[in-house]
Amino acid sequence: MTPAEIEALLDGPATALAAAVNAGAVPASELVERALERAARERERLGAFLALTPETARRQARDVARRVAAGEVLPLAGVPLAVKDNINVAGEPSTAGSRILAGFVSPDDATCVARLVAAGCVVVGKANCDEFGMGSSNENSAYGPVRNPWDLSRVPGGSSGGSAAAVASSAAALAIGTDTGGSVRQPAALCGLVGWKPTYGRVSRYGLIAYASSLDQAGALARSVRDAAVAFSVMAGGDERDSTSLSSRVPDVLTGLEVGCEGKRIGVLVEAGAEAGGLHEDVKASFEAAARLFSAKGATVVPISVPRVPLAIPVYYLVATAEASANLARFDGVRYGARVDAPELSSLYRKTRSQGFGAEVKRRILLGTFALSSGYMDAWYGRSMKVRALLSRDFAAAFREVDAILCPTSPEPAFRLGEKTGDPLSMYLADVFTVPASLAGLPAISVPAGFSKEGLPIGMQLIGPHDEEPLLFSLARVLEAGTHASERRPPAP
Ligand code: GLN
Repeated sequence: MTPAEIEALLDGPATALAAAVNAGAVPASELVERALERAARERERLGAFLALTPETARRQARDVARRVAAGEVLPLAGVPLAVKDNINVAGEPSTAGSRILAGFVSPDDATCVARLVAAGCVVVGKANCDEFGMGSSNENSAYGPVRNPWDLSRVPGGSSGGSAAAVASSAAALAIGTDTGGSVRQPAALCGLVGWKPTYGRVSRYGLIAYASSLDQAGALARSVRDAAVAFSVMAGGDERDSTSLSSRVPDVLTGLEVGCEGKRIGVLVEAGAEAGGLHEDVKASFEAAARLFSAKGATVVPISVPRVPLAIPVYYLVATAEASANLARFDGVRYGARVDAPELSSLYRKTRSQGFGAEVKRRILLGTFALSSGYMDAWYGRSMKVRALLSRDFAAAFREVDAILCPTSPEPAFRLGEKTGDPLSMYLADVFTVPASLAGLPAISVPAGFSKEGLPIGMQLIGPHDEEPLLFSLARVLEAGTHASERRPPAP
């Protein structure tokens, strides 16, 4: 294979790259060197990586070469993978984008990482992210922002912004991120990628640095629906190290990937249309075009209401911050990462946490601690849990009418760096369409569906009932094939 052919493989789908490695057409050892060069470039140019992992990558590539030579066929043979920095990779740093974890080295692989590596992936680096996954623009990383490869003056979305930038710039062929309230889907939408979060529990949380445990899920970002579906089939499955993981049979997302949407009932989310004020006109146009496309391809498209969707933001920012205030208590300067020494234990805690956490993380710890404090707990946390249950009921009722729900992933295309940093509330509103599925534990996928007049990618989201990933991936394929939006790539570096 010529150097140009190798570069073309790295630009193309992960599945095509794996096929070439399995066929012996290109050595994994050669691919990994080219991929590491790209990752180094995008670490500089976009800030996509917090650390490169060349030794791990070369060792994994040697394993792949050995297994392929022995006749094994690996679904993701030699595929360069970016891992969000709040997901553990054995022997490599995990900072979760925070100063408080500076110097922490992961003792082992997260289960989802181990599964991807067993399927042939090669980890090229730890991707930049918002601190502990808290953010929608990657501007809350303690180590600097990430730039969107489509327009370097814009954010890639967050919190898995580095993962998205890495795959969109073809520094990696696949990335994993965590999605607590949209952190895989929203950056996927802003960077022109496919990104999914599974049914809660379908992918193990073992090895993820916890943000809000009842919401956190790992998901993948890819340049095609098929790549994303292969990643799902590899990552999904029960795990005795995560008691909330599902041990039921993993739904098969590959066999029916091309079945189309004929006879399916697709609900167009009424509350998204009603967002009129907040919905960018180009997003609105793509939303309407997507509905027309499904109907042209044989689906029955009807309006559907999930009445409590407008309450999802306040509920999410109470539930997530409450859980975060408890989860982040473990970062005390004693057990993990950075420590600011002090003569007494209490001042060691105070100094470490004051200097170690960034402003947004502190805001959320304070908000969450308040929501859980005695005298206020019933009014805030208790009430938000009730609304969360009602929202789930709304979805259940909607899914008696329709098979899946269509809405934009993000109310607007990528915004400019700095545009929302002064106003946390406007940043929180970026999650208006992604947090509802998270609160209800539902699977959801974002698919490139068009471009704004300025040439920025626009993503549409499909939300399904629990365990309906096969339906979501097949509907995503319809959008991908019908809009051709995934075929356009960002300007070359
Ligand atoms: N933007 C949301 C938040 O800041 C979602 C983050 C996430 O999914 N990790 O909480």
